This record gives sequence, structure tokens and C-alpha cells, in this order.
Amino acid sequence: MTDAATELPVKTPLSIAIDGPSGSGKSSVSKAVARSLGLSYLDTGAMYRAATLWVTRSGIDLDDAAAVAAAVVAMPLVQILDPLEPGVVLDGDDVAEAIRSTEVTSVVSRVATNLDVRAELRARQRRIIEAEQRHDGFSAGRGIVAEGRDITTVVAPDADVRILLTASEEARLARRALEVHGTADAASVAATRDQVVRRDRDDSTVTAFTVAADGVVTLDSSDLDFDQTVAAALRIVAEQAPPRPVLN
Ligand code: C5P
Repeated sequence: MTDAATELPVKTPLSIAIDGPSGSGKSSVSKAVARSLGLSYLDTGAMYRAATLWVTRSGIDLDDAAAVAAAVVAMPLVQILDPLEPGVVLDGDDVAEAIRSTEVTSVVSRVATNLDVRAELRARQRRIIEAEQRHDGFSAGRGIVAEGRDITTVVAPDADVRILLTASEEARLARRALEVHGTADAASVAATRDQVVRRDRDDSTVTAFTVAADGVVTLDSSDLDFDQTVAAALRIVAEQAPPRPVLN
């Protein structure tokens, strides 16, 4: 996978944290950045989605916080960190598609606001990020791009590069409508509003992802197309994590 990597001069190993609200484009931008630098890719939202699927499939009442947390601690989840083909394997089943269903999307915030669930998933995320700084990880020591809602602030506040990817509410709604309904007409935008605006409001009770914390670079993609956003993210990476000087 390193063959496809650009020659952008950056330090190795590299850890990049990207946060942002729904529809900001953080998953596609993070994947593209990881591909272009030959890094692993961790979608932390997929972990909360997998946890939601696991708990609902087990028939656990989402209001029973202790039972939900206990189930998540025991959840047999494996993530494939390849940015070309990221995968989510739950108890041996490929659930990449199932975790994107409306059923999961509409209740994921209820699981993600359970603080014991967050503690468990954050610990798993830190272990994955640390493993990618060593030679035995998927990236063979090149590093990782981890994206979500609290990566720049809580999971990896010491990442080499931290970016908050934002976009206006209008742009985010239109992008998500296009992704989910194939059109961004008024009806599709209205149908998408719950999945974007309401979910972000619920999520922001436990994570702060609308304002950049100290040292986090804001990248506003409202007026940028996809390629421009990726190019801007790569420029930030090159500025924030130049190669280490070689000492003689
Ligand atoms: O990014 P995505 O829409 O897949 O995230 C799904 C949900 O996972 C979010 O709505 C949020 O509730 C939760 N999440 C979180 N912390 C993260 C990533 C996602 O709470 N770091």
C-alpha cells in the first residue's frame, strides 16, 4: 500500500485526527488523505454504529444503560483499517452496510451518549492508534488517520495533526441528501434533516465537535469541492508534521 503513497514530505509515523459534524465529508476526506499518504484509516463512527447494531440485535433495552455498556464491553468487533477497503466485522459478519441503515442511524446517538460505552470505545480507539505507530500495525509503522467527533480533543489530543472539518448546515444537508436519496431537492433535504441536525444536537451533549479546540486547525469545506478539500487537508498535514530533521 505504500507504493500508492505520495511523496509529500511528512514525519513517520504519523497520527492524524479529524473531527467534524454529520455531512462535513470527514469520512471520504479522511479516507482520501490516508490513501494518499499510505496510512491506515479508522472510522470511529463505525464503532458506535456497530455497537448500536450489536445491542439492538441482542434485544437489549437502550434505556438500560448498564446492560448496554456491558454488551459493548463484550462486543467482538474487528475493523479493517485499509482506506481502500475499510471493513467492519461483527462477530464474524461483515456489517459495513447494516450499520448505515436508517434504523441504526436514528438511534446511534442514544448508545453514543452512554458514558461507559464511550469509555470502552475510546480505549479501543487509542489501542488501534498506538498499534499503527508501531511496525506491527496495518500501515507497517507509517501511521493512521482517525476520524470522528472527539478524536482531536479526547481520544488523541496529542496527534501530530488535528483538523476540525466543518461546512455550513446548508452544505452538509445537501451533501447528505445527495448521498442518501440521490438528489438534494427540498423533500430530500427535509428528510435528511433529522439524520444531520437532530443527531448532531444529541451528540453534542457529550462531544464538542463544532468549535476547534486549541491547536486544532479548522478546515471549512462549504465552498470547496471534494478534491479541493483533500488538497487543503494535505497542505495542513505537511505544515503541521514536517519530516524530522536527519541528525548526523
Ligand atoms: O460519523 P458517523 O455518522 O458514522 O457517526 C455515527 C455516530 O457515532 C454519531 O452520530 C455519534 O453519535 C457517534 N460518534 C461519537 N463519537 C465519535 C464518532 C461517532 O459519538 N468519535
